[in-house]
Amino acid sequence: MKLFKNLQTSIKENKTLEDRFFAVVVLVGLVIVTVSEIVTYLEDITYIANLGTAIGGVMLLLVMYEAYVRKKMERARIMLCYTFNCFVIPITFFTCGGIDSGMPLYMLAGIFTVIPILKGMHRFICMLVSFFVDLLCLAAAYYLTVNADALGDLKQKLLPGLSLGSRYVDVACSIILIGLYVMITTALVMDAYQRERASREELLVKLDDLSKRDELTGLYNRRELFRFLEDMPAEDDSYYLCMTDIDHFKNVNDTYGHVFGDLVLRTLAAIMAEEVRNEEGELAARYGGEEFLIVVRAAGMSEALQRIDSIRRRFTGMKWEADDALITSFSGGIVHCSEYRSYSDAISSADKLLYTAKESGRNRIEHCAQAK
Ligand code: GH3
Ligand code: MG
Ligand code: MG
Repeated sequence: MKLFKNLQTSIKENKTLEDRFFAVVVLVGLVIVTVSEIVTYLEDITYIANLGTAIGGVMLLLVMYEAYVRKKMERARIMLCYTFNCFVIPITFFTCGGIDSGMPLYMLAGIFTVIPILKGMHRFICMLVSFFVDLLCLAAAYYLTVNADALGDLKQKLLPGLSLGSRYVDVACSIILIGLYVMITTALVMDAYQRERASREELLVKLDDLSKRDELTGLYNRRELFRFLEDMPAEDDSYYLCMTDIDHFKNVNDTYGHVFGDLVLRTLAAIMAEEVRNEEGELAARYGGEEFLIVVRAAGMSEALQRIDSIRRRFTGMKWEADDALITSFSGGIVHCSEYRSYSDAISSADKLLYTAKESGRNRIEHCAQAK
């Protein structure tokens, strides 16, 4: 039961095309073997046919055991291709009517099956062996048919013929079955291809986002910040840039440890991420160790100041588990971007204002008195 449960989940969940293909071929093989066993039994054709089909069935179960219980997938794939092409198909070829039946179609399907399941040298060798076995079956069937009179009962036992009516029914059923098989396998290939393409695109989006983010805080990194500043439209005068720096952060690290220091950085970053409206063209980035740069859009300096100040107030109001009495704060310097020729001039100026804020007692945001 574990075998079939694992087979079922592998069809549903297996992501790789080879694994899904493998599971489908195992299922198809089991169906063929079972149907063939029932038919040979009902028609009371020959013991050899029953025995041969049973051996094919046992081999398929061994393949499943190898794949789904012992988890030796590579070996199971090789076993499956040889079992299918060298046992199941040849046996059913003889028991189900040889060249007069739909069996040549199954032979082709068997060889086609090797392509997606095996790789490299194994694929090449197995295809050659399968061709050889199929040709051998045809040669043996030819010999039995040509010498039918001389062989008598033996020919009937080894290659029981089909009536004309049965031939048409058999070929019609085979066309439907093999047609379905080709349809299912092609659908599997397309499905796997589409899934892989979708997951690759998803991965690229994730990687692209990761390459823009700072590892510790999740805010945008310096590279993305500079790309953003370069793309900022010069004619738009709504951009304000604020350089911030946490106050006495070295003390925080020295007193509570670097792990706690990291938590403080992440907390401030989370507040900034919440307050900054990315969708409106704003941005918060980690500029350096405990320095962050925020770009907000506002109608004037007082509105921009208000926005940054609400971040400052939230950070100052934080309650820390490590110490109830601890008050964290940052200082900042804010400038109006359109008053500078380049963004590096704007950053330098914001940096100077930040220095002034530190000098004037910290926990404050400085701006140029005449800035709009
Ligand atoms: P000031 O108020 O003048 O800014 O004082 P300060 O102590 O914050 O300034 P200083 O530049 O002397 O210290 C910055 C500290 O930030 C030193 C460094 O150990 C710490 N730091 C930088 N990056 C990280 C980080 O990723 N994690 C932690 N925990 N600490 C960091
Ligand atoms: Mg600093
Ligand atoms: Mg500092």
